[in-house]
Amino acid sequence: MNPVTKQQPAGGQTLYSDHRKRIALFGSTGSIGTQALEVIEANPDKFRVAILTGHSNHELLIEQALKFQPAYVVIVDQEKYLKVKDALSGTSIRVMAGEQSLEDAASLDIYDMMLAGIVGFAGLKPTLKALEGGRAIGLANKETLVVAGDIVMRKAVEKRAPVIPVDSEHSAIFQCLVGETRNRIEKIVLTASGGPFLGKKPNYLVNVKREHALQHPNWNMGAKITVDSATLMNKGLEMIEAKWLFNLRPEQIQVVVHPQSIIHSMVQFEDGSIKAQMGLPDMKLPIQYAMAFPMRIPNQFPRFDFSKSAQLAFEPPDIKTFRNMALATEALYKGGNLPCILNAANEIAVYGFLRNRIGFLDMTEVIERTMLNIPFISDPSLEEYFESDAEARNFAASIIQI
Ligand code: NAD
Ligand code: MG
Repeated sequence: MNPVTKQQPAGGQTLYSDHRKRIALFGSTGSIGTQALEVIEANPDKFRVAILTGHSNHELLIEQALKFQPAYVVIVDQEKYLKVKDALSGTSIRVMAGEQSLEDAASLDIYDMMLAGIVGFAGLKPTLKALEGGRAIGLANKETLVVAGDIVMRKAVEKRAPVIPVDSEHSAIFQCLVGETRNRIEKIVLTASGGPFLGKKPNYLVNVKREHALQHPNWNMGAKITVDSATLMNKGLEMIEAKWLFNLRPEQIQVVVHPQSIIHSMVQFEDGSIKAQMGLPDMKLPIQYAMAFPMRIPNQFPRFDFSKSAQLAFEPPDIKTFRNMALATEALYKGGNLPCILNAANEIAVYGFLRNRIGFLDMTEVIERTMLNIPFISDPSLEEYFESDAEARNFAASIIQI
């Protein structure tokens, strides 16, 4: 990496002559997006913002744009376009609106890395466009790999575009694999906090409401992934994400519940040796690791303190109670379009649960019925993934009448 030279112009503003990595931050108004901006703000000599995108929170998007001065912003919700445009009219920032603009922005030759922080299936198309242009991806948006991992990873290899995980478990595995290119993985162990309902049984879960499910013990995240953590679907999606990122067979992927979230995941090699990556839970760490890879950036984040006594506990996940993880495991083993169907049904089910249309346990039923209903395709094309996604959404929505 080239050194950065700072110049202090007469106006007082610092200019960087400029080897900084240009970041296209997709989903900048979300939990990952705002934390990525904190990392960028703390490291102005290493990163600058090229693109910001948000779905509908125009106030925050405008505030971010004025502060970080990207070349482009995208507001997906077209009704907010004029508000954003007006607010940024005195600047050189270009404003685009609508879903297609995400792909148009991803195709621009103005950035080095896309930080993929959009939630859900909506992140897939812009990420594919970024890979098409050979851009590096810092991948938080796990649904992209769940839906079409084969196509995404093939494109990344073809374009020699690195896909660096941001999801904390996958970042942990990625970090454990540094220096191990010649060594085979026996298995990986994904750690799960267990979420807010660890140890609970169906007779409790049946009455759980949105407010309970949104109280995660260790992580502060967007609503969808917080519900996925409460149902253990998140871990199921992460198993599928890991399969594609690290080219693993399903049998090589194990999940263990580790309520303290200090070990972020582990790799067991062929000699039985296990490497773990540890630290206090803070998403800014995997975010900055992905953005700065292969460098580590010094920071003042709180440290895990071994001088205080602490217990690290492990137990198997209760997939009889948290059946979403069993459904995701089935999709992992069967492959084809089944993970795509699982993901689409889950997005609808979570949407329904967050709007109090269905109960906590109903989510599993919606997903299971959708997986049984939509025709299986063993080796889908990209178009077939899109079709399966749409069919699964329609079917799941019809069950819960939204
Ligand atoms: P969030 O809900 O806080 O933010 C989502 C972002 O995506 C927002 O900027 C929103 O405007 C944008 N968005 C939502 N729907 C969109 C659409 N249809 N089109 C375009 N943009 C849209 O979510 P988050 O918690 O930041 O999670 C983002 C992704 O990162 C998810 O895939 C999640 O699984 C993954 N992830 C998050 C965390 C975390 O700590 N938050 C940890 C690991 C992985
Ligand atoms: Mg995770």
